[in-house]
Parts: sequence; structure tokens; C-alpha cells
Amino acid sequence: MTLNEQHSSEWFTRAQAAIPGGVNSPVRAYGSVGGVPPFLASGKGAFVTDVDGNEYLDMVCGWGPMLLGHGHPEVIGAVQEAVSRGLSFGASSTVEVELAEEIARRVEPIEQVRLVSTGTEATMTAIRLARGYTGRDLVVKFAGCYHGHSDGLLAAAGSGLATLALPGSAGVPEAITSQTIVVPYNDLDAVRAVFAEHPGKVAAVITEAAPANMGIVEPDAGFNRSLAEIVHEHGALLICDEVLTGFRTGPAGWWGEEQSGRTLGGPEVSGGWTADIYTFGKVIGGGMPVAALGSTREIMAKLAPQGPVYQAGTLSGNPIAVTAGLATMRLADAGVYEAVDVAANSIAGMVCSAFDEVGLAYSMQRVGNLFSFAFGDGEALGWTGANGGPRNEAEVKNQETWRYPAFFHAMLEGGVSLPPSAFEAWFCSAEHGDRAMERMEAALPAAARAAAAATAA
Ligand SMILES: *Cc1c(COP(=O)(O)O)cnc(C)c1O
Repeated sequence: MTLNEQHSSEWFTRAQAAIPGGVNSPVRAYGSVGGVPPFLASGKGAFVTDVDGNEYLDMVCGWGPMLLGHGHPEVIGAVQEAVSRGLSFGASSTVEVELAEEIARRVEPIEQVRLVSTGTEATMTAIRLARGYTGRDLVVKFAGCYHGHSDGLLAAAGSGLATLALPGSAGVPEAITSQTIVVPYNDLDAVRAVFAEHPGKVAAVITEAAPANMGIVEPDAGFNRSLAEIVHEHGALLICDEVLTGFRTGPAGWWGEEQSGRTLGGPEVSGGWTADIYTFGKVIGGGMPVAALGSTREIMAKLAPQGPVYQAGTLSGNPIAVTAGLATMRLADAGVYEAVDVAANSIAGMVCSAFDEVGLAYSMQRVGNLFSFAFGDGEALGWTGANGGPRNEAEVKNQETWRYPAFFHAMLEGGVSLPPSAFEAWFCSAEHGDRAMERMEAALPAAARAAAAATAA
């Protein structure tokens, strides 16, 4: 089967003339898999339909927000009702209070919440707040963890351990990234070395609760707990970035999963730790632009207008966006998380079977209902994760990515839309039910064969 992509192709040509690269966020351009990105027209449940009428099982789910599936009638209804009362006021609305309360109710260490519009803003503000609270400047991040596109967080590792970072993008001044230190993920000794080298200077360590932006990388058993201990020993703050994992991997995010000890076939986890500032996005907007940071009353008191750390937003807490998020959060009950977990288990299992069937070497990484695959023989490629998979960004890069385009396009032709990069997590929704499983099952054998037959360029 070859997809009809006439209209998408025409729109992509037009888009490339009007918009840099034809897209408003780089991964959408299909740069790492090639071909024409479908222009989507609608979504319902687990499926999306493009402008040529092709229907795909959606394994991207808006990059996470669509936990309930597309077009959930109660979310759409709540939004339509809110729209009829006005789009934006630049003044307080009651739904903002309700969403802040809902977040604090779910994540116990959080007492107060500030709503913003994007995950980038949430982490950027969290960093500023940590600096304002501690009176220190340096920030430590892990290579391969993504925290949005603010200058200081687009930093790449310097030449040695515990040295100041280099710009990770053109246009980012070295003067700014010199305030960031980048260390390998899962490397507590590297974190200790930074604190030893820069005593009293580190404001915060920021980490993804579980890395999901280089594919999934499983935290070592007890990693987050030990990290929190080291950070707190040195009077710094731990920023737990749950923009992706928050309220997706479970009712209290990945932090909550670690406290509850549910592993779902993922890494061993240990609770008994808290972060100082948590950031959220994706699910809390239910598909609309809402993100947030949350912390204790004491730390949040530093934010304007109460405190000296400035932060603001014309559209922060926009009533329509917050209504979508609040409706999504209220509907995301135990049954929803169970449905997403069941779908993730089934799909991950099916993909593994399909790869095994054709004798492909691969590893599956997984944290709760999020998972990803890396092609290659882990022993030969030097992967050192507890599950035999890659344990940090350097190891993640060492995989047979050249198999992914063949696999991806065979799946797309089979009516399954995967993340268009080997370095992204796969997302399920509570609507990924029987029809989704049938579609997946039907598409996988040919795609696994295509991956196995692929050759390095
Ligand atoms: C998506 C993401 C961000 C950035 O959020 P945007 O809304 O795209 O700005 C930050 N941190 C993590 C962990 C993310 O997955």
C-alpha cells in the first residue's frame, strides 16, 4: 500500500515557503525519517486523520497531552461552554484556582502553583526562582534531558567533567551557558564532582523525573533519591521537570510512581525523596497551552507580586486553555491510568514480539506507560543500563538509528503514526483499545521486516 499524500505534499510545499522548514516546531518536519509529514485535519480517540483522508493510529498523542484520546466529549464540551463566555480577560478566573488546587492535591510536596503557557516558561521560571531563593547562579543539567528552549537550558557539555557548558544552539551566548554545567545522566559521581568544584555556587540541579526526550532512559535504581540527597546536602534545590511525565505516567507523575513503587516492568524505583520545585505542562493543558511550576509556600513566596523574582504572562492561566486542562485532569482517574498502562503493556509487548520474530537486536526502555526502542546489540554497542539498554545520552546515540526511517515509514503505510524520530518516547491514550491493537498488530510484521532489511547509509 502506498499512502495518498497529494494534499499533504501540496501543503508542505506551501508551508516551506511561508514558514521556516515548513513547521512551527522542528521535529514535525520529518527531518530524521524523511518524506512528507501528513497535515492532520482531525482526531478522535486513538486515531488521527490527515488532509488526504488517511487515518492513523496515533502514537504521538500531541507529544503527551492527549491522555484521554482526541476529542474527549467532556473536555470538548467544557471548552465550548467556556468559549461562549469569552476567550481571554487578562484578569483572574476561577478555573485557575481549581487547576492549581488539583495539581497540589495530587503532588503532596506542592503547596502553591503558578500557571504559565509552555513548559519552556515553566522551567525557565523554576530556574530563576531557584536562583532568587538561593542567591546562587550555577545550574546543573543532565546531557540529553530536555527542558524547553530557553538559552541557559540549551547548553551542551563542556570539554571536561564539572566544567561550564557550551552553547547548544546558535544564538545562545557563551556568557549564559557558562552558568550551566552539563553532566551525564545516571552519573551521581559527576554531580558530586560539580558540587566539590563549585562549593556554595550551585542554585539548582534540574532533571527530568525520568528522561523521555532522548527516547526513554531509565533512571538507575535509587537515582532520584540519591540525587535529591546530594543536592540538599549542598543547600541547592532539586527541580523535577515533569512537563512530559507529569500526570501521564500516573496520577502524581513519575515522582508519584516512584513513591508508590509501581514499576510496570520498568526500572526498580525507590521513594522517599522530594524535589523542591516541580514543573508541569503537556497533560495539564489537555492539548491547550498550559504549564505550571509548583513548590512549597516558602519558595513560591519569592515570586512576584509577593517576592522579588519577576514572572508574568498576558495569556498565563487563560480561561479556555485552563478549562481544557482542568477537565482533562478531573477525568484522569485510576481507570484512565489503568487503561493507558494496559495499552502500553500490549503495544510494547507486540513490538518486542515483532522484532524477535525477525531476529532484530533491540532494547526497550520503559518508565511506566512510556516506552521507546533502540535498535542494535547492546553488548556490542556498549550499553550499560540495568535493563541492557542505553544508560545516558552518549549510549543512546550509539544505536542503529538508520533502521528507524524504514520501520517508521512501513508503520505509517500500515496506518500507524509513530514519533518521527528514534529519540522520542511512544505515547498511548486511554482510548488505545481493541481497534488500536488490531491496527498495530497488522502493521508490525512488515515494518519489523523493513527494519531488519534496512542497511546503514
Ligand atoms: C516538552 C518538554 C518541555 C518544554 O515544553 P514546551 O511546552 O514544549 O515549551 C520541557 N521539559 C520537558 C521534560 C518536556 O518534555
